[in-house]
Amino acid sequence: MPGADVSRIGIDLGGTKTEAVLLDPAGLVLFRERRATPLADGYDAILASVAELVRHAAAQLPVGSRYSVGIGIPGSVDGETGLVRNANSVCLIGEPFQSDLERMLGRRIGVRNDADCFTLAECRAGAGKGYGLVFGVIMGTGCGGGICIEGEVREGPHRISGEWGHVSVDPAGTACYCGNRGCVETKISGSGVENSYLLSFGEKLSMEEIVAGARRGEERPLAAFNTFLDDFGRCLGGLISILDPDAVVLGGGLSNIEELYSAGMERVRRYAFHNDLRTPVLKHALGDSAGVFGAAWIGI
Ligand SMILES: [Zn+2]
Repeated sequence: MPGADVSRIGIDLGGTKTEAVLLDPAGLVLFRERRATPLADGYDAILASVAELVRHAAAQLPVGSRYSVGIGIPGSVDGETGLVRNANSVCLIGEPFQSDLERMLGRRIGVRNDADCFTLAECRAGAGKGYGLVFGVIMGTGCGGGICIEGEVREGPHRISGEWGHVSVDPAGTACYCGNRGCVETKISGSGVENSYLLSFGEKLSMEEIVAGARRGEERPLAAFNTFLDDFGRCLGGLISILDPDAVVLGGGLSNIEELYSAGMERVRRYAFHNDLRTPVLKHALGDSAGVFGAAWIGI
């Protein structure tokens, strides 16, 4: 844990963009930078891009200043091997991302799952503030989760706490890159819903187009959207039954779908093991910024 006089650099490595933030010791934002993630150029290009962002941010500080570095990644680092697991930016899978970057930067860095970073930020400064046990969900291109207890990330002995996105809920479902079938991520992420739509109807529609079509009452999009809401209810209802959190915070692009908080919550109540479920399921409060702030706070 960095001391009180230490600035913090946070990097949120996403599938499409990578964002950096520099916070002064009081937590004020000194610098922000956002650039496209060079996903198509492969692992080495991503490493170089992240290292450059860290150096850019550090260069804003007076020479000799102390700072921590934390990075949120789509996936998690295996506690034993140090290799990245289950990243939807699949070129990271099996790579020693943390040790490679530490060697390039000549220092130690903290690396956590992006959903952990999101949950930490929302728990300390966003929608989850004031709740004891918060489950944070990112529903975007992929789907991930994180658990915070009293403002701290729960990691677990295998560093997989909250890895809800890869719970298999349908053995007949589509194959997931993690090796299972019918993972939560294949059901309620943007890419999962789009893929299911293509398989069911032989037609390629984006998640936005599916939602818009459902709202217009079009048959196919409406059927896909109802399946999505039902899957959301079953997946989240089951999760709440296990964890009974004080609050759930939803983030990622799909969390802006208002129906999740009305019709979606009816399904959650239907599937959860309590007829009068009162768990607050809240929309994120920090927007896109949660990941990068959380990353800054997990820095070492
Ligand atoms: Zn999976």
